[in-house]
Amino acid sequence: MTSARATMADMDIELALGDITTWEVDAIVNAANHTLLGGGGVDGAIHRAGGRAILEECRVLRADRYPDGLPTGEAVATTGGDLPARWVIHTVGPTWAKTKDKSDLLRSCFRTSLTVADELGASTVAFPLISAGVYRWPKEDAIIQALSTLRATSTSVRTATLVLYDEATHRLAQRLASS
Ligand code: ADP
Repeated sequence: MTSARATMADMDIELALGDITTWEVDAIVNAANHTLLGGGGVDGAIHRAGGRAILEECRVLRADRYPDGLPTGEAVATTGGDLPARWVIHTVGPTWAKTKDKSDLLRSCFRTSLTVADELGASTVAFPLISAGVYRWPKEDAIIQALSTLRATSTSVRTATLVLYDEATHRLAQRLASS
């Protein structure tokens, strides 16, 4: 795990390289899908590492609050199960589309996740690069949207860490954060 300070604002924003399921923070954010019942990428990794408790809570959320699934751009929390993080904040990113600008929805994922973190009283939160995997959002723009939204959002969270999964993406994020 490596970590570097990217910017100083009301909330510190850090860039890091590694597997978000190992992060020792109050809350990690999951790039979930509408079903809330697990999937590939970081979603699958979080459910595998977090164990059945997360899935059981997600099932209850589906039954009680989101019978049609969690809408894109919204966020909801479960406990962290077996993860080091106390909570998981599940949010659904938009899929990339060349012909339609969905960046408002991508930005909404970061904003609503921070709102949920505030409601939980979380002061440290780690985010994956939402939408930049199976949902095919170009990594460079995903990083720009993530950093600019985190910088612009008013929150009680003290530290947000953007956790990049591979070295090339981490280097790209470092370059974009300092430009
Ligand atoms: P989406 O469906 O929103 O695109 P993905 O999970 O497919 O979500 O990918 C989002 C980003 O998370 C990608 O950049 C992917 O490389 C990264 N990723 C996948 N697994 C992990 C992990 N364990 N920790 C941190 N990032 C991860």
